[in-house]
Amino acid sequence: MIPFVRDMDFRYGEAQQVSPLIRRVIANNPGPFTYLGTGTYIVGRGEVAVIDPGPLDQDHLRALLEATEGERIAVILVTHDHADHAPLAADLAKATGARIVGCRPLPERQAMPQGVEEGLDPLYRPDHTPADREAITGPGWTLRAMTTPGHTSNHICFALEEERALFTGDHVMGWSTTVVIPPDGDMTDYYASLRKVMDGGFATLWPTHGPPITDPAPFLAAYLDHRLKREAQILGVLGRGPAMIDALVGEIYVGLDPRLKRAAAASVLAHLLHLVRTGQAVSDGHPGLESSFGLATSRPA
Ligand SMILES: [Zn+2]
Repeated sequence: MIPFVRDMDFRYGEAQQVSPLIRRVIANNPGPFTYLGTGTYIVGRGEVAVIDPGPLDQDHLRALLEATEGERIAVILVTHDHADHAPLAADLAKATGARIVGCRPLPERQAMPQGVEEGLDPLYRPDHTPADREAITGPGWTLRAMTTPGHTSNHICFALEEERALFTGDHVMGWSTTVVIPPDGDMTDYYASLRKVMDGGFATLWPTHGPPITDPAPFLAAYLDHRLKREAQILGVLGRGPAMIDALVGEIYVGLDPRLKRAAAASVLAHLLHLVRTGQAVSDGHPGLESSFGLATSRPA
């Protein structure tokens, strides 16, 4: 079982000091993929960084400007360009002159699956995309980029070295597992990126949605274990004969919120693509949502 953390005390639009160097303002955009809303982080004092400015919401923009009144926003960092993270970056940059440093923009995809996660921000344009381990610094703070593909291929976390903290975006969330939606989301990458965070030895993880994870090691172990169990479940069902994704979802996700059904199907596909790639499963033709999957015959017992 994943030791989820879901309780939090906050008011929309109000800046809260949540650690010596970190303030948080939550946008009023609750939903099945955003939990209580997008948590925008302000790092430092006087000259600050803002992480994941959030959705196109003028109230949230005002709240961020009020929270930083008398200070200078030097840089706006963006973990990935989903519509609940990136769109306000442009307006905030315009209002403050801050640079936007974040993930590369994903190409707009015609066939992007609908209703399975937040859409892309088509207007997102960073001034700079940091390399893995590149540092972004200000007075009293150092934020180091950590590339973490999986949820999206362009996802970046940012480590705050002074507090051994990691801003995890949607890569690791305390309230829920992360959706990994093909073709851009990739489970093989996701596993590698989870292990990268585990190896970082962080004291606190700050997701964009929900409360912080204050005991990351056991949480991350359970998070990874949950995925491996899901894989074992899928292989277990396929062991009884070939199956389509809808049938697998029905067997595996009991009591699923109907709004999340398509996300669950896409997640099962993400697992299957990993299982096909690693030689444990096969599909009839090109693997996709409409394919039938079975166990690989050469699979070791
Ligand atoms: Zn996202």
